[in-house]
Amino acid sequence: MSDIPRLEDLELRLGGLSGKRIFVRTDFNVPLVFVDDGTVVITDDFRIRAALPTIEWLTERGANVVCASHLGRPFADGWTEPNPKYSMGPVQARLAELAPDVELLENLRFDAGETGNSDEFVAQLIAGSDGKSIDGYVNDAFGASHRSHASIVGPPQHVPAAMGRLLEKEVQVLLGLRNKPKHPFVAVLGGAKVSDKLGVIGALLEIVDEIIIGGAMCFTFFAAQGKPVGASLHEPDQIDVCKALLAKAAELGKTIHLPDDITGVDAQGNFAQFGSRLGEGSIGYDIGPGSAAAFTDVIMDARMVFWNGPMGMFEDERFESGTRTVAQAMAETKAFTVVGGGDSAAALAKFCLDDEVDHVSTGGGASLELLENGDLPGLEALRNSQN
Ligand code: ADP
Ligand code: MG
Repeated sequence: MSDIPRLEDLELRLGGLSGKRIFVRTDFNVPLVFVDDGTVVITDDFRIRAALPTIEWLTERGANVVCASHLGRPFADGWTEPNPKYSMGPVQARLAELAPDVELLENLRFDAGETGNSDEFVAQLIAGSDGKSIDGYVNDAFGASHRSHASIVGPPQHVPAAMGRLLEKEVQVLLGLRNKPKHPFVAVLGGAKVSDKLGVIGALLEIVDEIIIGGAMCFTFFAAQGKPVGASLHEPDQIDVCKALLAKAAELGKTIHLPDDITGVDAQGNFAQFGSRLGEGSIGYDIGPGSAAAFTDVIMDARMVFWNGPMGMFEDERFESGTRTVAQAMAETKAFTVVGGGDSAAALAKFCLDDEVDHVSTGGGASLELLENGDLPGLEALRNSQN
């Protein structure tokens, strides 16, 4: 990581920051609630506050800071024009309260050149819309640095660049897990984006000693073990992948802990407890209390724990118990604890335990990919930048 320029390096390279226009790629992809009357509410401004140390460091030195971020998926749901509900307006209002006098560009993904990583869009970002081109670039968007998008990999090829404080902290913590593991090192995985995350389990098996699996992810593993999963969320086309992962774990002598009881609803829609076999029409929405207790033991005995993905549909009070119990174990264990993933962080906040873990990462996919590969496209771009 010492090969990636820091803010101080950028300051030196530019001969001071006073009056310099600095483009800061932030991750302001905050959770939003769209109210019927058209107003938009930011439910958690964690990602905006997390960028403040970098923004303040730059403004204190007289830089003109221009922030830019993506927000949601403006071309999803069949939109051929960017869906205006993902405008940066509400984020801009919150940022103005926290960091007055900082400019914020419109949602980067309103231009298809962002995700398409087009040279024209990169040139446009550098030139600025008002003819005031940027003098330097800072990446503080850890949560987007696993993507080779224009605003992440483009500007460092053209202007002096550095990592911001948030990116630096994230990389330091996550590479610490990867490169200096303390054993037992346990990964706790759950959530709903199953196929996205299955890919990293193979890589995680090389690094960690034990993997705990809950959330919807466990049902694809149950299916791989030949157990019926009822109508629970699972991905039949990933069953072979799960079989291969179970075999790889056995080969490496690593343990994959799967739940042996499940909470959910039966075919009639009534709240129910199950073992690890779910009958036709039954749906599992949480790990059961026995599994939550067993997982607690594993977490308490660990020396490092990385958690990504809630154990169940914790947004519904009937199915929050497994996630709450695991969150409490994360808070109580003496292990070094890191939590990554938007919904996992939201769960911790819901249980008021976000201050009780060692690090809450602003990036879910990015933290998994950094653990897996030890590098990210955004970091590589900074390393090769024009400094
Ligand atoms: P993160 O944002 O932490 O990476 P994900 O986005 O992968 O996590 O998944 C979070 C979502 O997974 C939550 O909204 C939760 O309701 C859902 N979820 C967890 N377990 C289940 C389950 N058994 N069935 C359906 N949804 C689930
Ligand atoms: Mg999520």
